[in-house]
Amino acid sequence: MEIAAYAASGTGASFYVDLQGNLTEQTGRHGRMFGGLHVRLRGYTAIRGWEDCFAVRPPRRDCLAVLRTLEARLHPFGTGLPFVCLTTVYLLYLDESGSHVGSPAFILAGMAVHEQDAWHFQRRLSGLVERSLPAGSAAADFELHAAEIKNPVKIVRGKKVKSVWAKIPVADRFKVIGSTYRSIAGYKCQDATRPCALFGAVIDGSYKDREERAYEEVLHKFDEMLTRQAHVSGVHERGMVIHDKRIIESDVQTWTQAWREVAGRIGKLNHIADVPLFADSRASRLIQAADFVSWGLYRYYGPAQDDRWIKPLWKRFDADGGVMRGLIHVVPGFRHGACSCPPCASRAEAA
Ligand SMILES: [Zn+2]
Repeated sequence: MEIAAYAASGTGASFYVDLQGNLTEQTGRHGRMFGGLHVRLRGYTAIRGWEDCFAVRPPRRDCLAVLRTLEARLHPFGTGLPFVCLTTVYLLYLDESGSHVGSPAFILAGMAVHEQDAWHFQRRLSGLVERSLPAGSAAADFELHAAEIKNPVKIVRGKKVKSVWAKIPVADRFKVIGSTYRSIAGYKCQDATRPCALFGAVIDGSYKDREERAYEEVLHKFDEMLTRQAHVSGVHERGMVIHDKRIIESDVQTWTQAWREVAGRIGKLNHIADVPLFADSRASRLIQAADFVSWGLYRYYGPAQDDRWIKPLWKRFDADGGVMRGLIHVVPGFRHGACSCPPCASRAEAA
């Protein structure tokens, strides 16, 4: 997103601030007020009081003072100046596991990052891949796809099909898997008030509508986090959902559109800006990170019953007051304490 902030509506003046906080463009009758001023905004925030400044000519001296001390006065937010926080965006990257016939559960899961973290986190994951490969390898060809890294040779119609990972020794491949999980578990967000959070839904394979249920649960959990944050900060962040390309794309978009307009089984979505967007996972390390979250859950809830990979991630699922909110496990009888997995145990404890 090129434009990070826009302010002063209704005053005839406006300005844009880029993601680094630099004033990039100014327009309107009073635009020249900004001449020579280097406006640095963190958190893409505009001050409501500026509107009065723009409305007078010549510029009031105290307005310039406000501009010059802006950075100091915005940290932390709410230091007494009236301000309007402009909407920024949380990005939820999703992927699924267990969609094959006979799977014991369908899993939809991934990671929500504030827009200011997207670039940093992508870079962290790309760096991890580059460091893990032999010199001269084209890191972009090596997708972080957990199942493929673990088993890079597949049998398709009786023939062996090798992924690029097949040329990496098995010990190094397992190191990449471990490092990726540690990277997701240990990533420090740019702004602690806008933390990264994991989300997921594990729906028992016996439910016919397991895919629709999973989407509804995950989107509502994401929406609930945005609502909760809005109550604390007064800022209504918007949510965008980005998903690996898949065949039920149009179903997902139809369901979401409906949940944004009228309440579904759980309620109405209030903070989701648009229907989920679908992108090629090869182009986004963050969709690849979502693959690791859903695969880790599949390893735990699927036939392997292996918690090695998901274990460091439990603590990163969205939580409120010590209760895990970001992940739900839906099995027949889950409301009656039939399961003791971390989300079921957390829910039972909170009840
Ligand atoms: Zn459970």
